[in-house]
Amino acid sequence: MKTTCIVCPVGCQLDVKKIGDEIKVSGNGCMRGVAYGKSEFECPKRIVTAIIKGDNQICSIKTTIPVEKAKITEVLSLLKLAPVKKYEIGEIVYKNIFESGADIVITSIQNDSVN
Ligand code: SF4
Repeated sequence: MKTTCIVCPVGCQLDVKKIGDEIKVSGNGCMRGVAYGKSEFECPKRIVTAIIKGDNQICSIKTTIPVEKAKITEVLSLLKLAPVKKYEIGEIVYKNIFESGADIVITSIQNDSVN
């Protein structure tokens, strides 16, 4: 599998292969790329960012840690059910989503001038 390491701006082109029971990574400029390549091969994860509606608010959210890529659609579906209320920056909207250890937290708020 070929992938680009996104851990730092260098963007090393990684080649990840399973040889026997071992996952081998090449093309990395540092050891963080090895960890990233193995993670991408075994179970790719991403920080999820989105927007939810509060009470006269437009709120940006993000997950506190990366979640499995395969779960992102479920995370976005969950966000559609978020209560429409007054939020504060830093407030946790959902805790430990899908038992992943990730919380969904409010990162910024804008007033919704449409309402
Ligand atoms: S392998 Fe290391 S140097 Fe290369 S992009 Fe990843 S973190 Fe940066």
